[in-house]
Amino acid sequence: MSVNATEESPPENRPGPRRPALSPSRASDFKQCPLLYRFRAVDRIQEAPSKAQLRGTLVHSVLEKLFALPREERVTERAHELLRPAWTELSTDRPEWTELFPDDDPAAVDAWVGSAGELLDNYFGMEDPARLDPEACELHVETELGSGVRLRGYVDRVDVAPTGEIRVVDYKTGAAPREIGEAKAMFQMKFYAVVLWRLRGIVPHQLKLMYLTDGQSLAYTPDEPELRRFERTLEAIWQAILRAGRTGDFRPNRSKLCGWCDHQSRCPEFGGTPPEYPGWPEPDPGEETALDRAD
Ligand code: SF4
Repeated sequence: MSVNATEESPPENRPGPRRPALSPSRASDFKQCPLLYRFRAVDRIQEAPSKAQLRGTLVHSVLEKLFALPREERVTERAHELLRPAWTELSTDRPEWTELFPDDDPAAVDAWVGSAGELLDNYFGMEDPARLDPEACELHVETELGSGVRLRGYVDRVDVAPTGEIRVVDYKTGAAPREIGEAKAMFQMKFYAVVLWRLRGIVPHQLKLMYLTDGQSLAYTPDEPELRRFERTLEAIWQAILRAGRTGDFRPNRSKLCGWCDHQSRCPEFGGTPPEYPGWPEPDPGEETALDRAD
């Protein structure tokens, strides 16, 4: 098993400098609302993470560490023991995240870490990690489609059966209602399925979403014609992004998802004014953050 692995197109297909690429989070932002895409990918306005988002990042980190342990150590108690050190590591890396806990209130931190422990308990109710040997966790994947569109992302977990079937697993820890996130989550999974299919020449057998807040999971089997159609969708999204990038015309698209948007104060749909368009960013308007990956 490899942890924090990277899988890319062969070197002969890879250009030297890092090139603009589409990530599932940014593609789905643009689909939801082009202006939201602009705020995140072009203006790169920092968004304050919520405690729920950070908890997701923490749980993802613990699950990754858990699978790096020998099978016999992948038990609930050990997972709980990993929580504090994982938070220390994350908050050392990003000290601004500790601002969510004013005055370092130990009781608030304890309660929050405890709530992450509940998600881990739910995870253990869904599968036994001691019976699994993932091929990779937090796998960085990147490929280029025939059209030249580059796709980049991080897969939470890739399992490969002895018979060669690939399963793509994504942990969902978000606080938003499931019905709101489900289409977005499936979009993300199909994105990874396309990338892995193009990298390995095998259509993943199963895309599995594990909802750690309620212990439910959703499994889906894609087929090749569907992934071909999805590739065309991704290509169309990228072309639309490039068109908007050239002109700066990123339109707001009001929806019920606006309730989760950090940018209402600068959005014309809510009486705000966007900052002056800074121009198309180079070299990369498609980066995902750790928070995106833990969504
Ligand atoms: S508030 Fe809604 S319409 Fe405005 S930028 Fe955010 S998602 Fe788009």
